[in-house]
Amino acid sequence: MRIEILGSAAGGGFPQWNCACSNCLAIRKGTFAGKTRSQLQVAISGDGESWFLLNASPDLRVQIEANPCLHPEHAPRHSPIAGVVLTGADLDQVLGLFLLRELQPLQVYATPSVRKIIRDDNSMSGMLHRVPEQVRWNDILPNRIFPLTTASGGNSGIGCEALPLATKFPTYVKPNRVRDLTATEATLGLILECGGRRLAYLPTVPSVNESLLARLDAADVILFDGTFWNDHELIETKASDQTATALGHIPVSETLRRFADVQRPRKIFVHINNTNPILDESRPEFRAVRDAGWEVAEDGWQLEL
Ligand SMILES: [Zn+2]
Repeated sequence: MRIEILGSAAGGGFPQWNCACSNCLAIRKGTFAGKTRSQLQVAISGDGESWFLLNASPDLRVQIEANPCLHPEHAPRHSPIAGVVLTGADLDQVLGLFLLRELQPLQVYATPSVRKIIRDDNSMSGMLHRVPEQVRWNDILPNRIFPLTTASGGNSGIGCEALPLATKFPTYVKPNRVRDLTATEATLGLILECGGRRLAYLPTVPSVNESLLARLDAADVILFDGTFWNDHELIETKASDQTATALGHIPVSETLRRFADVQRPRKIFVHINNTNPILDESRPEFRAVRDAGWEVAEDGWQLEL
Protein backbone atom coordinates (compact mmCIF):
# COMPACT_ATOMS: atom_id res chain seq x y z
CA MET A 1 0.00 0.00 0.00
CA ARG A 2 1.24 3.48 -0.87
CA ILE A 3 0.40 6.25 1.57
CA GLU A 4 0.73 9.95 0.77
CA ILE A 5 0.39 12.54 3.53
CA LEU A 6 -0.78 15.54 1.52
CA GLY A 7 -1.60 17.67 4.56
CA SER A 8 -0.89 17.17 8.25
CA ALA A 9 -2.45 20.06 10.23
CA ALA A 10 -5.73 20.23 12.12
CA GLY A 11 -8.62 22.38 10.89
CA GLY A 12 -7.40 25.88 10.01
CA GLY A 13 -3.94 24.71 8.92
CA PHE A 14 -0.64 26.23 10.03
CA PRO A 15 -0.54 29.16 10.15
CA GLN A 16 -4.27 29.71 10.60
CA TRP A 17 -5.78 32.78 8.92
CA ASN A 18 -7.04 34.44 12.12
CA CYS A 19 -4.45 33.17 14.61
CA ALA A 20 -1.72 35.15 16.33
CA CYS A 21 -0.51 32.45 18.71
CA SER A 22 3.26 32.35 19.21
CA ASN A 23 3.64 29.55 16.60
CA CYS A 24 1.62 31.38 13.92
CA LEU A 25 3.37 34.71 14.61
CA ALA A 26 6.83 33.14 14.42
CA ILE A 27 6.25 31.17 11.23
CA ARG A 28 4.91 34.28 9.47
CA LYS A 29 8.02 36.17 10.61
CA GLY A 30 10.31 33.40 9.35
CA THR A 31 11.76 32.77 12.80
CA PHE A 32 10.09 29.41 13.47
CA ALA A 33 12.01 26.11 13.71
CA GLY A 34 9.42 24.12 11.80
CA LYS A 35 7.29 23.96 8.65
CA THR A 36 3.94 25.30 7.48
CA ARG A 37 1.24 22.66 7.04
CA SER A 38 -2.03 22.36 5.14
CA GLN A 39 -5.11 20.74 6.60
CA LEU A 40 -4.96 16.99 7.14
CA GLN A 41 -5.30 14.94 3.98
CA VAL A 42 -4.09 11.40 3.38
CA ALA A 43 -4.36 9.37 0.14
CA ILE A 44 -3.77 5.62 -0.17
CA SER A 45 -3.46 3.16 -3.04
CA GLY A 46 -3.15 -0.62 -3.23
CA ASP A 47 -2.12 -0.78 -6.89
CA GLY A 48 -0.57 2.65 -7.53
CA GLU A 49 -3.37 3.50 -9.98
CA SER A 50 -6.62 3.91 -8.03
CA TRP A 51 -6.31 6.26 -5.08
CA PHE A 52 -8.59 6.75 -2.09
CA LEU A 53 -8.75 9.91 -0.06
CA LEU A 54 -9.16 9.55 3.70
CA ASN A 55 -11.60 12.43 4.24
CA ALA A 56 -11.59 15.43 1.90
CA SER A 57 -9.87 18.57 3.15
CA PRO A 58 -10.67 22.19 2.25
CA ASP A 59 -7.08 22.39 0.87
CA LEU A 60 -7.65 19.51 -1.53
CA ARG A 61 -7.19 21.33 -4.86
CA VAL A 62 -3.69 22.52 -3.95
CA GLN A 63 -2.85 19.16 -2.35
CA ILE A 64 -3.81 17.27 -5.53
CA GLU A 65 -1.73 19.60 -7.71
CA ALA A 66 1.28 19.10 -5.40
CA ASN A 67 1.11 15.33 -5.85
CA PRO A 68 1.68 13.91 -9.38
CA CYS A 69 0.16 10.50 -8.59
CA LEU A 70 -3.24 12.23 -8.28
CA HIS A 71 -3.02 14.08 -11.59
CA PRO A 72 -5.33 13.20 -14.52
CA GLU A 73 -3.62 11.58 -17.50
CA HIS A 74 -5.64 9.21 -19.63
CA ALA A 75 -8.49 11.36 -20.94
CA PRO A 76 -9.65 14.98 -21.13
CA ARG A 77 -11.65 14.30 -17.99
CA HIS A 78 -10.05 11.68 -15.74
CA SER A 79 -8.78 11.28 -12.18
CA PRO A 80 -6.85 8.53 -10.40
CA ILE A 81 -9.02 9.37 -7.36
CA ALA A 82 -11.48 6.50 -7.09
CA GLY A 83 -13.15 7.36 -3.83
CA VAL A 84 -13.28 9.04 -0.46
CA VAL A 85 -13.62 7.42 2.97
CA LEU A 86 -15.18 9.76 5.52
CA THR A 87 -14.41 9.30 9.22
CA GLY A 88 -16.79 12.05 10.35
CA ALA A 89 -18.69 15.14 9.21
CA ASP A 90 -16.45 17.95 10.52
CA LEU A 91 -15.95 20.71 7.97
CA ASP A 92 -12.21 20.05 7.64
CA GLN A 93 -13.07 16.43 6.81
CA VAL A 94 -15.80 17.00 4.22
CA LEU A 95 -15.50 20.42 2.54
CA GLY A 96 -13.13 18.99 -0.08
CA LEU A 97 -15.88 16.67 -1.27
CA PHE A 98 -17.63 19.66 -2.84
CA LEU A 99 -14.41 20.52 -4.71
CA LEU A 100 -14.68 17.14 -6.49
CA ARG A 101 -17.98 18.08 -8.13
CA GLU A 102 -17.01 18.07 -11.84
CA LEU A 103 -19.11 15.02 -12.79
CA GLN A 104 -16.30 12.66 -11.77
CA PRO A 105 -17.56 9.17 -10.77
CA LEU A 106 -16.55 8.60 -7.14
CA GLN A 107 -17.20 6.03 -4.45
CA VAL A 108 -17.90 7.72 -1.12
CA TYR A 109 -17.83 5.64 2.06
CA ALA A 110 -19.58 7.05 5.13
CA THR A 111 -21.72 5.89 8.03
CA PRO A 112 -25.48 6.30 7.41
CA SER A 113 -25.53 9.16 9.98
CA VAL A 114 -22.71 11.08 8.26
CA ARG A 115 -24.34 10.50 4.86
CA LYS A 116 -27.65 11.93 6.13
CA ILE A 117 -25.94 15.08 7.44
CA ILE A 118 -23.92 15.76 4.29
CA ARG A 119 -26.16 14.49 1.51
CA ASP A 120 -29.73 14.80 2.84
CA ASP A 121 -29.47 17.96 5.00
CA ASN A 122 -27.44 20.02 2.56
CA SER A 123 -28.81 21.32 -0.74
CA MET A 124 -25.27 21.98 -2.05
CA SER A 125 -24.76 18.21 -2.19
CA GLY A 126 -26.97 18.26 -5.31
CA MET A 127 -23.80 19.23 -7.22
CA LEU A 128 -22.48 15.74 -6.46
CA HIS A 129 -25.60 14.08 -7.91
CA ARG A 130 -26.24 15.84 -11.19
CA VAL A 131 -25.98 12.57 -13.15
CA PRO A 132 -26.78 9.05 -11.85
CA GLU A 133 -23.24 7.66 -12.17
CA GLN A 134 -21.57 10.57 -10.32
CA VAL A 135 -21.14 10.03 -6.55
CA ARG A 136 -22.08 6.62 -5.22
CA TRP A 137 -22.59 6.46 -1.44
CA ASN A 138 -21.58 3.27 0.37
CA ASP A 139 -22.68 2.69 3.96
CA ILE A 140 -19.94 2.03 6.51
CA LEU A 141 -21.11 -0.25 9.29
CA PRO A 142 -18.64 -0.07 12.18
CA ASN A 143 -16.57 -3.12 13.18
CA ARG A 144 -17.00 -4.86 9.81
CA ILE A 145 -14.39 -5.18 7.10
CA PHE A 146 -15.49 -3.95 3.69
CA PRO A 147 -13.54 -3.67 0.40
CA LEU A 148 -12.74 -0.31 -1.17
CA THR A 149 -13.80 -0.52 -4.80
CA THR A 150 -12.60 1.49 -7.78
CA ALA A 151 -14.91 4.02 -9.42
CA SER A 152 -16.13 1.33 -11.82
CA GLY A 153 -16.69 -1.18 -9.01
CA GLY A 154 -13.45 -3.18 -9.36
CA ASN A 155 -11.35 -4.52 -6.49
CA SER A 156 -8.74 -2.06 -5.20
CA GLY A 157 -7.02 -4.66 -3.02
CA ILE A 158 -7.69 -2.61 0.12
CA GLY A 159 -9.94 -3.78 2.93
CA CYS A 160 -11.23 -1.28 5.48
CA GLU A 161 -12.57 -1.69 9.00
CA ALA A 162 -14.14 1.22 10.85
CA LEU A 163 -13.77 1.59 14.62
CA PRO A 164 -16.30 3.84 16.44
CA LEU A 165 -14.25 6.32 18.49
CA ALA A 166 -16.46 9.26 19.51
CA THR A 167 -20.17 9.90 19.78
CA LYS A 168 -20.35 13.66 19.24
CA PHE A 169 -21.54 15.09 15.93
CA PRO A 170 -20.24 18.48 14.70
CA THR A 171 -21.77 21.51 16.42
CA TYR A 172 -23.52 22.59 13.18
CA VAL A 173 -25.82 19.54 13.44
CA LYS A 174 -28.96 20.67 15.26
CA PRO A 175 -29.99 18.81 18.47
CA ASN A 176 -33.30 17.62 16.97
CA ARG A 177 -31.36 16.12 14.03
CA VAL A 178 -28.87 14.44 16.36
CA ARG A 179 -31.79 12.59 17.98
CA ASP A 180 -32.39 10.78 14.66
CA LEU A 181 -28.74 9.80 14.24
CA THR A 182 -26.69 6.92 15.66
CA ALA A 183 -24.07 8.16 18.12
CA THR A 184 -21.55 5.40 17.35
CA GLU A 185 -21.55 6.58 13.72
CA ALA A 186 -20.24 10.08 14.55
CA THR A 187 -16.45 9.63 14.46
CA LEU A 188 -14.48 6.67 13.22
CA GLY A 189 -10.95 5.37 13.14
CA LEU A 190 -9.95 3.19 10.19
CA ILE A 191 -7.83 0.06 9.88
CA LEU A 192 -6.82 -0.29 6.22
CA GLU A 193 -5.28 -3.56 5.09
CA CYS A 194 -3.56 -4.45 1.84
CA GLY A 195 -1.41 -7.54 1.19
CA GLY A 196 -1.35 -8.36 4.91
CA ARG A 197 0.00 -4.92 5.90
CA ARG A 198 -2.07 -2.53 8.02
CA LEU A 199 -2.40 1.22 8.28
CA ALA A 200 -4.34 2.63 11.25
CA TYR A 201 -5.80 6.09 10.62
CA LEU A 202 -7.23 7.81 13.71
CA PRO A 203 -7.23 11.61 13.45
CA THR A 204 -9.84 12.19 16.17
CA VAL A 205 -9.45 10.11 19.32
CA PRO A 206 -11.11 11.19 22.59
CA SER A 207 -9.54 8.41 24.69
CA VAL A 208 -7.83 5.04 24.37
CA ASN A 209 -8.57 1.77 26.13
CA GLU A 210 -6.68 -1.53 26.26
CA SER A 211 -8.60 -3.10 23.39
CA LEU A 212 -7.83 -0.14 21.10
CA LEU A 213 -4.16 -0.28 22.09
CA ALA A 214 -4.09 -3.99 21.22
CA ARG A 215 -5.64 -3.31 17.80
CA LEU A 216 -3.10 -0.58 17.09
CA ASP A 217 -0.17 -2.72 18.24
CA ALA A 218 -1.08 -5.09 15.37
CA ALA A 219 -0.78 -2.29 12.77
CA ASP A 220 2.35 -1.50 10.76
CA VAL A 221 1.82 2.27 10.67
CA ILE A 222 -0.37 4.44 12.91
CA LEU A 223 -1.45 7.94 11.89
CA PHE A 224 -2.83 9.26 15.18
CA ASP A 225 -4.53 12.31 16.70
CA GLY A 226 -1.79 14.88 17.38
CA THR A 227 -4.11 17.88 17.74
CA PHE A 228 -3.01 19.28 21.12
CA TRP A 229 0.02 18.81 23.36
CA ASN A 230 -1.87 19.19 26.64
CA ASP A 231 -5.44 19.54 27.83
CA HIS A 232 -5.30 23.30 28.49
CA GLU A 233 -3.40 24.34 25.37
CA LEU A 234 -6.20 26.43 23.83
CA ILE A 235 -6.90 28.13 27.16
CA GLU A 236 -3.20 28.92 27.76
CA THR A 237 -2.80 30.36 24.26
CA LYS A 238 -6.09 32.27 24.68
CA ALA A 239 -7.38 30.64 21.48
CA SER A 240 -10.49 29.19 23.14
CA ASP A 241 -11.94 28.42 26.57
CA GLN A 242 -12.27 24.71 25.80
CA THR A 243 -10.01 21.85 26.83
CA ALA A 244 -8.65 19.28 24.39
CA THR A 245 -10.77 16.66 26.11
CA ALA A 246 -13.94 18.74 25.66
CA LEU A 247 -13.14 18.98 21.96
CA GLY A 248 -12.73 15.21 21.70
CA HIS A 249 -8.94 14.97 21.45
CA ILE A 250 -6.66 13.04 23.78
CA PRO A 251 -3.58 15.26 24.39
CA VAL A 252 -0.28 14.14 22.84
CA SER A 253 1.45 14.23 26.26
CA GLU A 254 -1.04 11.61 27.49
CA THR A 255 -0.78 9.54 24.29
CA LEU A 256 2.98 9.20 24.80
CA ARG A 257 2.32 7.63 28.19
CA ARG A 258 -0.52 5.37 27.04
CA PHE A 259 1.44 4.01 24.06
CA ALA A 260 4.64 3.27 26.00
CA ASP A 261 4.23 -0.48 25.33
CA VAL A 262 3.08 -0.15 21.71
CA GLN A 263 6.44 -0.70 20.05
CA ARG A 264 5.76 -2.60 16.82
CA PRO A 265 4.18 0.01 14.52
CA ARG A 266 5.68 3.15 13.11
CA LYS A 267 3.80 5.87 15.04
CA ILE A 268 3.11 9.26 13.47
CA PHE A 269 1.11 12.22 14.76
CA VAL A 270 -1.21 13.95 12.27
CA HIS A 271 -3.99 16.57 12.60
CA ILE A 272 -1.65 18.89 14.50
CA ASN A 273 -3.21 22.15 15.66
CA ASN A 274 -1.30 25.38 14.99
CA THR A 275 -1.03 26.04 18.75
CA ASN A 276 0.75 22.72 19.41
CA PRO A 277 4.38 23.16 20.61
CA ILE A 278 5.44 19.90 18.88
CA LEU A 279 5.41 21.86 15.59
CA ASP A 280 8.50 23.72 16.88
CA GLU A 281 11.52 21.46 16.48
CA SER A 282 13.54 23.53 18.97
CA ARG A 283 11.09 22.84 21.82
CA PRO A 284 11.35 20.16 24.52
CA GLU A 285 7.86 18.90 23.57
CA PHE A 286 9.11 18.00 20.06
CA ARG A 287 12.12 16.26 21.61
CA ALA A 288 9.83 14.34 24.00
CA VAL A 289 7.75 13.08 21.08
CA ARG A 290 10.84 11.90 19.17
CA ASP A 291 12.39 10.33 22.29
CA ALA A 292 9.16 8.35 22.82
CA GLY A 293 9.51 6.86 19.32
CA TRP A 294 6.84 8.99 17.62
CA GLU A 295 7.16 11.22 14.54
CA VAL A 296 5.43 14.50 13.68
CA ALA A 297 3.99 14.28 10.16
CA GLU A 298 4.86 16.86 7.51
CA ASP A 299 3.05 17.65 4.26
CA GLY A 300 4.47 15.62 1.38
CA TRP A 301 5.57 12.55 3.33
CA GLN A 302 5.30 9.31 1.35
CA LEU A 303 5.15 5.88 2.99
CA GLU A 304 5.21 2.41 1.48
CA LEU A 305 3.72 -0.56 3.30
ZN1 LIG B 1 -1.86 29.83 15.77
